[in-house]
Amino acid sequence: MSERPVEEVGGSVRPVAPSVFVTRTYMPPIGEYTELLRGVWERGQVTNNGPLCQELEKALLPYHGTRHVLLMGNGTITLQLAIRALDLTGEVITTPFSYVASTTAVLWERCVPVFADIAPDGFNIDPAAIEAAITSRTCAILATHVYGLPCDVEAIERIAGRHGLKVIYDAAHAFGTVHRGRPLLSYGDVSSCSFHATKIFHTVEGGSVACNDDALHERMRLMRSFGHVGDVHHVAGINGKNSEMHAAMGLVVLRHFEGILERRRVQWGRYDALLADVPVRRATVPAGTVYNHAYFPIVLPSEPALMAVVEALAGIGVLPRRYFYPSLNTLPYLTRKGQCPVAEDVAVRVLCLPLYHDLEEAWIDRICEVVSRTVR
Ligand SMILES: *Cc1c(COP(=O)(O)O)cnc(C)c1O
Repeated sequence: MSERPVEEVGGSVRPVAPSVFVTRTYMPPIGEYTELLRGVWERGQVTNNGPLCQELEKALLPYHGTRHVLLMGNGTITLQLAIRALDLTGEVITTPFSYVASTTAVLWERCVPVFADIAPDGFNIDPAAIEAAITSRTCAILATHVYGLPCDVEAIERIAGRHGLKVIYDAAHAFGTVHRGRPLLSYGDVSSCSFHATKIFHTVEGGSVACNDDALHERMRLMRSFGHVGDVHHVAGINGKNSEMHAAMGLVVLRHFEGILERRRVQWGRYDALLADVPVRRATVPAGTVYNHAYFPIVLPSEPALMAVVEALAGIGVLPRRYFYPSLNTLPYLTRKGQCPVAEDVAVRVLCLPLYHDLEEAWIDRICEVVSRTVR
């Protein structure tokens, strides 16, 4: 949106400052945060795997459901670290419908992204399309649990097993989702999560890599801090660490996480009910999944309908986001694009409606009213 949203006032038009964005960072009670900072000040250790980083890593384990978790500087570096630590070379089959970081991580690690289309009527990569994209150069599958909804993890595991491929999940949206009794973050050879300020659980900037393999974990742990322990250098590493200030934020947000999940469930349910009779496609939560309600996407009948909704919402000061747009197989810097008709079609028609902890029910009602009126 380049224009400022406007509102009709007695025949004249005045700008409305946008007041509702697609997301808003959850800010915990400031006193709880400063109390942890006091300890940081007393110890004088602000980074390099300090006690708060270690405490947060331990506290995050049950949310991942894996033997190991590493706290890192951001979600993107966790994806790159996973690719690097698994020694991947060649083609990585990935989804065209995700945030751009899941493709750039593959490119940045000098692998070739090969796009497998998403399933019709869903948002996640289609196992049949994965199977069709496998060549002798394929080394791994990098799939995203889009909006925190599970990929067909069982089918993907079978395909990977049959062809000897590694599976990395970009689980940046999946924190808090439970699938078949296990955290969604526990699936795959490696699962990567983002704790960016816009995500359902956050450390301002941050991320995690989780796995069950002891040797892989050790390798990633070394790589996270330059590949050496003291004077002994084991592997070419990078700086993927996070700080005590970030860990403090994570520890405090985590205390409130059950409340965050519950609030989202209520807000999501309200959207879902109010839009039930409106001709837009909503996300469906598969049986056996306890969803984290991280996003509320709607698929409009057409791109012009989407533009009309964006404009109408701007009129009441609401800025939704075209998330994800464009389809990643169309990125201008790719040398090998490929066609993904389902993802390309969804990408031009999908909109994420505002959803965050402090969003009031009255706004949800207003937004649904505008969507409903515009689409009909
Ligand atoms: C946010 C996000 C990332 C990147 O995480 P950062 O912590 O911002 O680096 C990667 N993939 C997906 C799907 C995301 O939504």
